[in-house]
Amino acid sequence: MKNVHVSLLDWFKQYGRHGLAWRKTDDIYAIFLSEVMLQQTQASRVAEYYYPHFLQKYPTLKHFARASLDEILSDWSGLGYYSRARNLHKALNLCKKTGLPQTMEALQKLPGVGRYTASAVCSFALNQKVAVIDTNIKRVLKRYFAQMNDKEILKEAEIFLNQDTPKEHNLALMDLGSLLCTSKNPRCPKCPLMLTCKGINEPEIYTSKQKIQYEKLDIFLGICLVNKKLALVKSSEKLYKGLFVLPEVEPLEENFIASFKHSYTKYRLSVFLYTTDYAPQNASYFTYEELLQAPISSMIKKAVSFLDF
Ligand code: SF4
Repeated sequence: MKNVHVSLLDWFKQYGRHGLAWRKTDDIYAIFLSEVMLQQTQASRVAEYYYPHFLQKYPTLKHFARASLDEILSDWSGLGYYSRARNLHKALNLCKKTGLPQTMEALQKLPGVGRYTASAVCSFALNQKVAVIDTNIKRVLKRYFAQMNDKEILKEAEIFLNQDTPKEHNLALMDLGSLLCTSKNPRCPKCPLMLTCKGINEPEIYTSKQKIQYEKLDIFLGICLVNKKLALVKSSEKLYKGLFVLPEVEPLEENFIASFKHSYTKYRLSVFLYTTDYAPQNASYFTYEELLQAPISSMIKKAVSFLDF
């Protein structure tokens, strides 16, 4: 196994994605923040704006915990999966006095933290001897060990872990999955594991095919403008909980303004906008400038683009 570890690390030194901002720090808060952002979001989107923006505005755990949830949701706007922001805010408030916990077990007790995030924090921030398994690493290991069973993969990953350089080993596997051992057309001739890979002859059969069941939804939203201020209500629905949304209305043909498509998580939404004179009693009113700072989703931003303030 030693030779395999050496070639993997050599490859990583030469080709690894060392420029990613969250790889240049060992600050546990910054790494925790990046790992939560990276769940279900492409690294480039996180790196380009959200990660630097959050670290600039909330440089420490205490700054983040002190901010209101509205403020966090507003800064998170556009990144999607808002439950991540709500859980992050809850988690950091729970440990604002003690700092983030430093064990897998304790980290997984925080809201929204599963095995992957806990292992990534323990490995990347604390250099603990923990096998990290994200989607990329799982694909590499499934192919490398010609193994489909998730529990077996975890066992194999723990045995395979390089005890001398666990952090670099995990990062190397992650980059290998992202750069060479890709879902389609893996580039095996360039792979540092090619000599011992059991799945090299038929890598595609070890690619997990998760069929996403998309749900189509039609939604009818009301535009109520009072003195050039738009009425919005705070959502208590799971989808956009805590964010300001347009109130739902009965669709009346004569009030139709526009419609557009929007994708959000597993939903494929057809959104129809209607003028209305009535806003719910609990509505809050926003000027155009205030909307720029408000916790609203990309879907509401799209809707606002149809309005003439
Ligand atoms: S040899 Fe091919 S299938 Fe095996 S780990 Fe490398 S890229 Fe993946």
